Amino acid sequence: MHGLMSELYPICRSITGKGVEKTLRIIRKHVPIKIRRIPTGKKVFDWTVPQEWNIQDAYIRNSKGEKIVDIRKSNLHVVNYAAPIHQKMTLAELKRHIHTIPEHPDWIPYVTSYYEKKWGFCMAHRQFKGLVNDTYEVKIDSRLSDGHLTYGELYIKGQSEEEVLFSTYLCHPSLCNDNLSGVVLSTFLAKILGGKALKHSYRFLFVPETIGSIAWLSLNEEKLGNIKHGLVVTCVGDPGKMTYKRSRRRDAEIDRIVSQVLKESGKPHETIDFFPYGSDERQYCSPGFNLPVGSLMRTPYGRFPEYHTSADDLRFVSPEYLADSLMNYLKVVDVIEQNITYANISPKCEPQLGKRGLYSPKGGDKRPPVTGILWVLNMSDGTKSLLDIAAQSGLRFEDIKAAADALRKKRLIVECERLHTAP
Ligand code: ZN
Repeated sequence: MHGLMSELYPICRSITGKGVEKTLRIIRKHVPIKIRRIPTGKKVFDWTVPQEWNIQDAYIRNSKGEKIVDIRKSNLHVVNYAAPIHQKMTLAELKRHIHTIPEHPDWIPYVTSYYEKKWGFCMAHRQFKGLVNDTYEVKIDSRLSDGHLTYGELYIKGQSEEEVLFSTYLCHPSLCNDNLSGVVLSTFLAKILGGKALKHSYRFLFVPETIGSIAWLSLNEEKLGNIKHGLVVTCVGDPGKMTYKRSRRRDAEIDRIVSQVLKESGKPHETIDFFPYGSDERQYCSPGFNLPVGSLMRTPYGRFPEYHTSADDLRFVSPEYLADSLMNYLKVVDVIEQNITYANISPKCEPQLGKRGLYSPKGGDKRPPVTGILWVLNMSDGTKSLLDIAAQSGLRFEDIKAAADALRKKRLIVECERLHTAP
């Protein structure tokens, strides 16, 4: 994942343009995503697909002809989606168009201006303070033209049409935790799921943030009923603890599944409620859809100082934390796939476990411990899933699952909530 991130890091991305295309073609070397294009001007709910932004060059040159700021050194030097300009100006004039972070004088901020035609540069505050009176040549060789909004989509078909959505955004240039970490984790998660026999179907979206999810929702409204669980994948590579932002529903199955997985991890973690800003969960959880989509991250966007600065780089994100996040996502998928509701078919008193070879006080010799067996027998009245039983008993999901498997084999419980199976 970190290797793929290093490959994607230098590309200058925005919400539209060649950087997104190039990124998607690299992802396609790993997983067979479809690259989809929506033309500029297309109405998507209250929004309009914007023009394509492409940039050839950008710099600030002093009167000696030295480039003091150069996009070739960092994509963050230019306001993302900046309008073109080529002009000479005084320092005072130039300063009005420069963004810095005084409290982190060596970091370059990430600034965007998607829906307002502006130009500007970003630089380290230390450099800004050292600028001398001079005549500066300012050039941004960018082009805004009709074209497409481009995004990637991968659908992995399982036995059922019931679907799990993983959505991530790829519009940020040269920024790692927010959000190349989400892009690479999604790619590798998709790669792993692509090789498995799955009950649910899985959909992966690689979209430009906000406009991309709005456009996808607008064009796929008829499919949304299939989405039973979803997660926005972002900020998954920093050293912070895992954080889960619940769906707007607060108690959707995905909310309970992620809570269970984080609890079982035994590591520090935090669960926070839905709030209507942040990433694309705002669109998936808008009241007209209210989809069961949460967001599983490490330190949330805006809560780490490196956020939206040049310090969110390849060193800030490490292979170790990317791998830990991926393991959590895989466990979430495991529970989604295995969370079955059973009914006890001999519910009058406990069946005699010993004569069925199910009585093993401590487990072992391949038999699950009797506590799990008793929990599953008692709770399986057709209304409680294995997840509910794990949460109530305090036992691990996999132990409850093992107890249920043993009971099913002895025909003491039957599955009563079958997934609707596609023809
Ligand atoms: Zn961001």
